Amino acid sequence: MKNIKDYDLQDLQEELVSIGEKKYRAEQIFKWLYIEKVKTFDEMTNLSIELREKLKDNYSMCNYNILKKQESSDGTKKYLFDVLDGNAIETVLMQYHHGKTVCVSSQIGCKMGCKFCASTGVQFIRNLSAGEIVEQIVAVEQDIGDRISNIVFMGIGEPLDNYDNVIKAINILNNQKGLNIGTRHISVSTSGLVPKIYDLANENIQCTLSISLHATTDEQRSSMMPINNRYNINELMKACKDYIKITNKRISFEYALAKDNNDNLEDAKRLVKLLKGMLCHVNLIPINKIENGQYSKSTNENILKFRDYLNDNGIVATIRRELGSDIDAACGQLRRKNLKK
Ligand code: SF4
Repeated sequence: MKNIKDYDLQDLQEELVSIGEKKYRAEQIFKWLYIEKVKTFDEMTNLSIELREKLKDNYSMCNYNILKKQESSDGTKKYLFDVLDGNAIETVLMQYHHGKTVCVSSQIGCKMGCKFCASTGVQFIRNLSAGEIVEQIVAVEQDIGDRISNIVFMGIGEPLDNYDNVIKAINILNNQKGLNIGTRHISVSTSGLVPKIYDLANENIQCTLSISLHATTDEQRSSMMPINNRYNINELMKACKDYIKITNKRISFEYALAKDNNDNLEDAKRLVKLLKGMLCHVNLIPINKIENGQYSKSTNENILKFRDYLNDNGIVATIRRELGSDIDAACGQLRRKNLKK
């Protein structure tokens, strides 16, 4: 059965015309799916009974069941959703002063094998479809009874390794007839798939690109992120500079600080050298310790020194507030735990 949430508005209009229905029905269905957030076609009461029957016979609504939900004292909620084929994915809701942000997964598992990531111990199974990505936001909005204002593609999976579905999901999320989340409020993170950074630059969408950098030498970065063996720091930096030239948009660099690994002053100096003159911002992330992981969190003193060095040398850097530290906050942890049971 086809997933009705896999269609962006234009595709849905074409699909409906192809089954003998009027084009305007697509907007009505979009409203039911993304504004009313109904869970059955029967609830779409302004559609004819015949059309509702046709939809029921041919399309699924991809309603996720919540397998598990963890809630932190700071308001962070971590969901484990049943994606209806026996697999499960994680989605995290974070409450910031600027609104509610959802961190979505783009794949089931991940091929990238970053050493600091809890998903690494879990094999890649498959890409999520556009509708399966969108459903994460719908299911969270249904659960909390409130709107989501920001989306970050930083959950499980490498978003640019599932490029077409991620772009389609962004189009669906952004549509004003539906969830209406502005592309400026959507951030796509990558471990550094250089050719796809160029593709994204040429999409003409306003989302923010976030680069998981985490190290300043190839030796260090390759030991943390095997993708660096395919596209080294030089190639990645060139792609970032070209991205800024093409889009005129600021890039966000993620730098997870791991004790005695990449958190000393020499690292900070090299980072300044790499990013000097670029339209960018650095997000420093106190690394989450994962089970069997080889990295542990930097000391607060080192984190502050690192940030201050960057700021004093012209690189805007902030420390990401730790959310959900009393639950399994690192991406992949909840899913990994559940798989072991
Ligand atoms: S950090 Fe992201 S890209 Fe790296 S293995 Fe984990 S999910 Fe994949």
